[in-house]
Amino acid sequence: MRKKNKKILLQTPKGMHDILPSDEKWYDRIYKAFRKISEFYGFKKISTPILEYAFLFEKGIGEATDIIEKEMYFVKTKGDDLLALRPEGTAPVMRAYFEHGFNKLSQPQKFYYFGPFFRHENPQAGRFRQFHQLGFEIIGGKSDSIYDAEIISLSSELIKELKISNLLININSIGCQTCRPKYIKKLEEYYKHNSSKVCKTCNLRIKRNPLRVLDCKDDKCQDIKKNAPNIIDSLCISCRNHFKEVLEYLDELNISYNLDQNLVRGLDYYSRTVFELEVEGLGSEIGSLGGGGRYDYLSQLLGENQVSALGAGLGIERLIYVMKAQQVKLPEKQGKKVFIIHLGDLAKRKTLLIMQKLYDAGVSFVETQDKESLKAQLRSANKVQADLALIIGQKEVFDNTVIIRDMHSGLQETIPLNKLTEGIKKYIKNI
Ligand SMILES: [Zn+2]
Ligand SMILES: [Zn+2]
Repeated sequence: MRKKNKKILLQTPKGMHDILPSDEKWYDRIYKAFRKISEFYGFKKISTPILEYAFLFEKGIGEATDIIEKEMYFVKTKGDDLLALRPEGTAPVMRAYFEHGFNKLSQPQKFYYFGPFFRHENPQAGRFRQFHQLGFEIIGGKSDSIYDAEIISLSSELIKELKISNLLININSIGCQTCRPKYIKKLEEYYKHNSSKVCKTCNLRIKRNPLRVLDCKDDKCQDIKKNAPNIIDSLCISCRNHFKEVLEYLDELNISYNLDQNLVRGLDYYSRTVFELEVEGLGSEIGSLGGGGRYDYLSQLLGENQVSALGAGLGIERLIYVMKAQQVKLPEKQGKKVFIIHLGDLAKRKTLLIMQKLYDAGVSFVETQDKESLKAQLRSANKVQADLALIIGQKEVFDNTVIIRDMHSGLQETIPLNKLTEGIKKYIKNI
């Protein structure tokens, strides 16, 4: 039986959130800083669709990962295509790189992106099912260690620009196709030997995605993990040199880092340098702010020729969480505030024209059209700390004039409407 009067819940689905006007300014601040730095370093903006073919991620990220096994949202189209809401940004950028022939241009190509991503995770502090991420990618050219340092330097510049303090950079190398399998074999042997001493997940991971055992947070496994074979000891000469060069570049840049042999990052496409950004004291609360690394084999996983590539991604909600926790102040909005006051219906109609003139003059304004009395509107003007008020009443409508009132001194004058721009500019210069 259908229930009558069932109340519709007006709320977002679990893990999805509105970005309210009061929060948009944080997103804007991050995006502006990110864009400024990216463009300065020669990165070009790219926007890929929210929906992609699911196999792009299955092939790129790897099927034995949490993202593919548990967290990806699938969409079946009417034409029977299996699409996915993008869970990350790197595989789509790589897809676009080949689809649009960026591989035929001068190499490497540098991209940056910003937008929503989706993962079906348990929502917690700074973690949502629809979240926003920014990322940089360098694709093509040689597997040159200077780019690894550049990506890390960019990430740390951005954190600095956002006035976030106590950044920790954890870094590791997970080797190449030559040396990694040898290391994995050692790791498998070691964990098989200790299988009774580690958790169920570790026993499962060592079979399916062995490097992930190094991610285990279970107390039970910590001792075993600590004594596990170290990947750095297994690196081949060329990976070892590559990693050494990355660290030397970072030293040159005075960027401090922490060598973390357990840092592996869970995605199949990584090779050589991997890193994570964390804020001291907030790591246990929100995890890492983001991270990245080299993914020289991603193009091959997607069925293309091998191209060197690397990148980084940072979670916007986590950045905002940290900025708020560290009481970072957003820069004050610059420019003077102009408040429009109208008295009576005829004047109200003129306000739209005035707004148009202000817009043409590049002056931002505030208006409260739901208040009628002069007193109430002046009060509102004071409340928003307006510098100027433009007052238009019955008389001004007939005379085609407007009153400009300096809210600081209280002085005012009447000027012709067609001289409004000049009039305001004069005041704006003075206040
Ligand atoms: Zn190697
Ligand atoms: Zn474990």
